[in-house]
Amino acid sequence: MTFDPGRTVRELEELRELTGDAEGAQRVAWTDTWERSRDFLRAKVQGTGAVEEIDEAGNQWFTLRGASDRELVIGGHMDSVPNGGWLDGCLNVLAGVEVLRRIASEGEPPVTVRLVSWADEEGARFGRSLLGSSAASGTMADQEELRALKDRDGVALPDALREHGVDLDNALAARSQLENAAAYLELHIEQGPVLESMDLPLGVVLGTFGVERSRFTWRGQAAHAGSTPMDKRRDALAGAAKLALYIREIAAEVGGGAVCTSGGVVCRPGIVTSVVETAEQLLDQRHLDADSLARMLAMARAAAERFAKEEDVEVEWERIWNIEPILFDETLIGFADEAIREVAGTSHKLPSGPLHDAAEVARAGVPTVMLFVQSLRGLSHTKVEDTKREHIELSVQALDKLAAKTIAWLG
Ligand SMILES: [Zn+2]
Repeated sequence: MTFDPGRTVRELEELRELTGDAEGAQRVAWTDTWERSRDFLRAKVQGTGAVEEIDEAGNQWFTLRGASDRELVIGGHMDSVPNGGWLDGCLNVLAGVEVLRRIASEGEPPVTVRLVSWADEEGARFGRSLLGSSAASGTMADQEELRALKDRDGVALPDALREHGVDLDNALAARSQLENAAAYLELHIEQGPVLESMDLPLGVVLGTFGVERSRFTWRGQAAHAGSTPMDKRRDALAGAAKLALYIREIAAEVGGGAVCTSGGVVCRPGIVTSVVETAEQLLDQRHLDADSLARMLAMARAAAERFAKEEDVEVEWERIWNIEPILFDETLIGFADEAIREVAGTSHKLPSGPLHDAAEVARAGVPTVMLFVQSLRGLSHTKVEDTKREHIELSVQALDKLAAKTIAWLG
């Protein structure tokens, strides 16, 4: 079969017909529609000679044996959020199919080449993302919590998985899948506005942001809105408001793509006739560099103490969740940069805000890189998610060139 990036676009459209409706993609993991997308993938891989295997965590693998046991792995995810877009996840997988076809057509490759469709990247049904890839990377450490998760209809996660042939207790056995993995490549839509704003079709992903999520609880004194003079107030919201604006300065000062979001403030008593007594404020901070991220958090905490003094209120800090930045492999970043220049003329390096399966694979110690293709209007997880056809084709070409360079490096 000759290499044909246009075929990837046609197959994506076919998949959209098969697994979407007027509201968008409906390939939620552990559902019949998701199974249909897995059958679709199986049919598309047929003819390449790659052998299918579904691992203990439900990840769907296709292996094309090469002269050596060392493996090049190309991955993505067929599952989507409800009412999702037509490209998120499945572009990576179907582009991988086209690359597999090209490699297979040239006879036995020097290294073994594998395509993986990770199970439940989105976590749309049970709220736990990266399920299959975290099992394969061995980072899944929350099996107790997973056992207790239920979907909207009260179905427990282990029961839903069992219906699709996965025993949660045994999911970590999927770790053996990455034993021989020597490189991992993933193409994904950007899901953000950066490449479009630069008028570039493709970019190399440097890694995924580290994240610090905090809760600041501000405590003042509830007091009557009419009888309390302005200079006698201990207004908890005043502290939260100052911090909500100050995080812009933190991001500007730290730089390097730093982002900070005060995504929620809940005020009590929350009535129009009272000064706010408590304000619970959520803060999300992200950076690709661990030291910069630590500095951002330290700056926010120090500022909160300062604002508390200024407003005569108290503030308490609590960490909700954090994850360290994950940096991709420098050699592979170089190959990806070259591949993009070859197909599109200009390349750009950028971090990823969202987490991806690639981050899990990188955490397992496998040299990893991702390619981003421009998203129109930066929108994703909605039916209006879109990418220009010619950009999709360029992205398949770039992934193919990246795969060829990586195979030459490994072989
Ligand atoms: Zn995705």
